Amino acid sequence: MAQIDGLPPLREVIAQHELSAKKALGQNFLLDLNLTARIARVAGDLSGSDVLEIGPGPGGLTRGLLAEGARKVLAIEKDSRCLPALAEIAAAYPGRLEVIEGDALKVDPLAHLTPPIRVAANLPYNVGTELLVRWLTPDAWPPYWQSLTLMFQREVAERIVATPGSKAYGRLALLAQWRCEARIALSLPPEAFSPPPKVSSAVVHLTALPAPRFEADPKVLERVVAAAFNQRRKMLRAALKGVAPDIEDRLRAAGIQPTERAEQVSLEAFCALAREVAKG
Ligand code: SAM
Repeated sequence: MAQIDGLPPLREVIAQHELSAKKALGQNFLLDLNLTARIARVAGDLSGSDVLEIGPGPGGLTRGLLAEGARKVLAIEKDSRCLPALAEIAAAYPGRLEVIEGDALKVDPLAHLTPPIRVAANLPYNVGTELLVRWLTPDAWPPYWQSLTLMFQREVAERIVATPGSKAYGRLALLAQWRCEARIALSLPPEAFSPPPKVSSAVVHLTALPAPRFEADPKVLERVVAAAFNQRRKMLRAALKGVAPDIEDRLRAAGIQPTERAEQVSLEAFCALAREVAKG
């Protein structure tokens, strides 16, 4: 296996620092540095970017990002046991790796980063979905980040890129595709991780569009989509009853049949409906 840097193999790092994987922290580590370099390449040309990495663990992806030329990596890790291993990486790449010990759901990374900023992470799945939704729903658009390169359970990755008419289509697809280009860049079997998780994984790459694909108020669109998919088996006239008393008229004005179900409605039509609902 080709060396990507002069640091010890990850198995040695994990043994030396006694980083036995903790289930509670969702720790499934990537040990193949060629694979982590490949994931880093999905993130794009890193040479002019700062990269925010959440959950570096023993540093496999961190090393991939640095070897692929990231200007700076800011890594936020909750598990203090990983800090000595990460300090060794920082020493090998002087001035290019900053580590913050903390919970990514609570730390504000912006003060530590200079644009352009890209995000890359192999995260525990529950934290990953919550962070993704936060990254996709900032107060202003375009967001502070240019792209997100994130590992998810295969099933979640499919929900992000899903199209109308499929079972996976829902709130996550609409949120992601309204203001981003989203694609599955890599698929990984459980054996790519140590310990192997129960399910397959996939790397999703999202690029922020300069502006939304279709006009809509973000809060209204969020409310309409959440209500529509909360009762996805129901016809929209029933599922959206609470959104507006005259919802049937508004659905028709948006070009949607009141008897359709959320699963069949395109992003463009949901945006048209959000505009109708916003008319007050
Ligand atoms: N990036 C490493 C890799 O690819 O091998 C580790 C991936 S492991 C799936 C997830 C990492 O996220 C662990 O190191 C875990 O300690 C860390 N983590 C879990 N919850 C976190 C949180 N709320 N904030 C920051 N890091 C977290």
